[in-house]
Amino acid sequence: MSRFFSLLFPQKGKETKIISNEKIDENKVRTARQIITDLQKDLPNYTNQGCGPFVAAIFDSNGEMLVKTANSVVNECCSNNHAEVNAIKEAEKKLGTYNLAPYNLRIYVTAEPCIMCTGAIMFSGIRELYYGVSSKTVEKITGFDEGFKPDWFEEFKKRGITVYGNIEPELGANELNEYVKEGKIIYKPTR
Ligand SMILES: [Zn+2]
Repeated sequence: MSRFFSLLFPQKGKETKIISNEKIDENKVRTARQIITDLQKDLPNYTNQGCGPFVAAIFDSNGEMLVKTANSVVNECCSNNHAEVNAIKEAEKKLGTYNLAPYNLRIYVTAEPCIMCTGAIMFSGIRELYYGVSSKTVEKITGFDEGFKPDWFEEFKKRGITVYGNIEPELGANELNEYVKEGKIIYKPTR
């Protein structure tokens, strides 16, 4: 990770290390902390209706929210229905395009995108990605398999996609712990 930029951020007496594939812009971090905190707080409203424990939102460059979606794998019987994929589909439908690049959009997600969602973001034309809790923590708490993404920070950078990660990770971990504690479904293929 030495090629990447990081910033120590004070959080509840502890320090959180935010990581990025660009030189850290504190304004972007401030906005992302606010949005991801709001998404985390909103998460139980979705999981109580049968959604999986992940929420994503796409914003335009003026800071207006275009769409907000949760993971709907179980309630809609589709293994592809991760929060990010749902958000991208909804945004493209709303804008009537398969190419979001001209709209200069950013996606905020409560957790690091999995192997599928990383690909979906790459194909969508979204310019910036901000995520909360890391895949490693997601896997540790829930037992979900997030897949493999070699050098993806670098690969995103090559394609002009900015990434900021590890935003409000404690809040994210708490929400996932709640989901598990409540005995909600860990949906995954049997091996
Ligand atoms: Zn995913």
